[in-house]
Amino acid sequence: MLNLILFGPPGAGKGTQSENIIAKYKLIHLSTGDLLRSEIQAGSELGLKAKTLMDQGILVPDEVVIGMIDNKLKEHRNAAGFIFDGFPRTVKQSEALDQLLASYDESISVMIALVVDDNELLARLLNRGKTSGRPDDQNEELISKRIQEYNSKTKPVADYYQEQGKFVAIDGIGEIDFIFEEINKAISQVTVK
Ligand code: ADP
Repeated sequence: MLNLILFGPPGAGKGTQSENIIAKYKLIHLSTGDLLRSEIQAGSELGLKAKTLMDQGILVPDEVVIGMIDNKLKEHRNAAGFIFDGFPRTVKQSEALDQLLASYDESISVMIALVVDDNELLARLLNRGKTSGRPDDQNEELISKRIQEYNSKTKPVADYYQEQGKFVAIDGIGEIDFIFEEINKAISQVTVK
């Protein structure tokens, strides 16, 4: 399997590039943000609890997202691989993901990080907020809170994969197609078992 983590702060372009990657490599897209928003839409208990935190720009508890990923891995046993988008977001989530994959005799192939500075992120998210309808993209304070959560809780996840020799950073500012080319180059370096 080809198992990719697309990593980066909110607004780095993970969603956009995920679409390109899925189309080319036929991977299953697992975005915890999307999964949580579907729970909210469905009005489930999990969704209601998650919404309160998401509306404040705070991460939802690790157990919640780990459980959702566990279910999805079970659902797609015969996939060509997965692209993890917005997950793992804490070191605890990374450890859990490694364990889950190991139980299927699988592992992460590579983490691809999109690097974008905070000012550009703020501008992109405010712009996305005009059309996305996402409440967490609508005000500057909330966006800053999410970037803060990223810097304090999520950034260490990069070190975790760096230590495993699986980390590749790509400049996330520029033409979408050019960035996708750089992603393809990183993927072509990966040996898939
Ligand atoms: P963005 O990358 O723009 O922040 P996401 O859709 O990935 O958007 O996430 C939206 C919100 O959902 C986050 O601010 C957080 O509250 C919650 N969330 C998504 N994924 C996770 C995760 N892996 N762990 C904890 N919370 C998460």
